Amino acid sequence: MRRRDFCTTAIGGILTMSSTSELLARRAFSPFAIRGVYFHDGFAAEPKSSAPLYWDFEAWKREIDWLKACGINTIEFATMLEFNRLPRTELEHKKIKDKLRILEYAHKKDMKFGYLLTNTVLSTVPDNEEPGNQLGNRAKNLCPQEPGNFEKTIAVPKFYMETFREADFFEEFAADWGGCECGRCGVPQFMQYVQVLAERLAELNPKATLYADTWCISFWGKEPMAQGWKGVFDHEISGTREVIQSLAKMPPNVGLALPCHHLYRPLALKEYGGKAKTPLFPTRDDLQTLRQAKRPVLAWPHFVMDDDAYRPAVWGLVHSEVRYIQDLLRTLQRAGIDRVVGNLYLPLLQISNTFAYGRLLWNPDEKPEQILREFAKLIAHKEDVDRLTDVLLWLENHSYWQEQMPEDGRLPLLPSTLDRKSASAQARQIRANEHLALPLPIKPKAWLQELGKSIEKMHWA
Ligand SMILES: [Zn+2]
Repeated sequence: MRRRDFCTTAIGGILTMSSTSELLARRAFSPFAIRGVYFHDGFAAEPKSSAPLYWDFEAWKREIDWLKACGINTIEFATMLEFNRLPRTELEHKKIKDKLRILEYAHKKDMKFGYLLTNTVLSTVPDNEEPGNQLGNRAKNLCPQEPGNFEKTIAVPKFYMETFREADFFEEFAADWGGCECGRCGVPQFMQYVQVLAERLAELNPKATLYADTWCISFWGKEPMAQGWKGVFDHEISGTREVIQSLAKMPPNVGLALPCHHLYRPLALKEYGGKAKTPLFPTRDDLQTLRQAKRPVLAWPHFVMDDDAYRPAVWGLVHSEVRYIQDLLRTLQRAGIDRVVGNLYLPLLQISNTFAYGRLLWNPDEKPEQILREFAKLIAHKEDVDRLTDVLLWLENHSYWQEQMPEDGRLPLLPSTLDRKSASAQARQIRANEHLALPLPIKPKAWLQELGKSIEKMHWA
């Protein structure tokens, strides 16, 4: 079962700038319409309470209240790797029950709920055992062209679609997990899942959209890594275009979700030899084709707000990527894409990025320094706001995202005079704010401790 390093790069050089200044002016003041967060709740972490894999409904409720306060209006879940089967254990039934309560709660708060569906993957966890941490890797992909496998595998996403039928949208995720590398399968087999699920959705919930998400579309092909990551990203362009072409034959409720790797992800930019050499995708023509076909487009960028357990250097650390989140959102805005779903793995640690993402979804031109100061006011005692702002500026300038970025993709640094030693010393002196202005999902004092620990672990800075 492949579960590599993929999750992350995307649309390299969109730049379908609007031709009229009037349109640009209007867009400059329009918030994104879908301002979403995708929760990945498949990894274990320490302490257990920090990992969504173990959260109960009350923990989710605190997180959703926080997102709402940040201006985020959409949440999305998926069936995690080992859970891809019809539910067998009490744990699986409880998780589904909690998610249904979350769906209802989100709707009560006037937020949208999305659910990401899979295709060829099936859990190999024994029936009487609970699925869990996805690093256990207990799942396999079945070729849908082998007799009986399509029926066997589509039963799982269908079950989840029927269960969450009140969702506002679904995504059918190409791969990672899922896909088929047998050599005979390709985009047409992926689209077979999309079509069947879209037809079912039209019966269950005619208002809902199903996005075909081309994340890891290259894993619908033989040896996707034969030409390394560059080959994977090249195939993401050709495979996505094949999906775009086949949308004409799809039911009208099908849209397109784009990983956008060529636009923002260091892994992709590096593979192409720098930002300047990274191909533009999607292009103005790609997006024009989609607009003319009246197919909604959702951007599904990943890893910039929070990275996963496959990069141990940053797993479990507080991140600050305000400049890169801003740059990505500006690029999407210029391309005319106003639906975006970012991601969180350990949401309690990433409250600063979540706050910044919320602010930038409303106004991508807000200054990063200003956003970090506003966040510092939430967390620090009023006499320590300057101190925390300085530490956050240092953290932002030394982010791992930036560390991985090729030279020509790096954004200008923010003004900061600290080094790692002084940032670490200063972080330890900050007193917490006792008067909460927003419903934070973690106590400021606890978050400040995590910040201090993170700085000590940033060995590259
Ligand atoms: Zn196959």
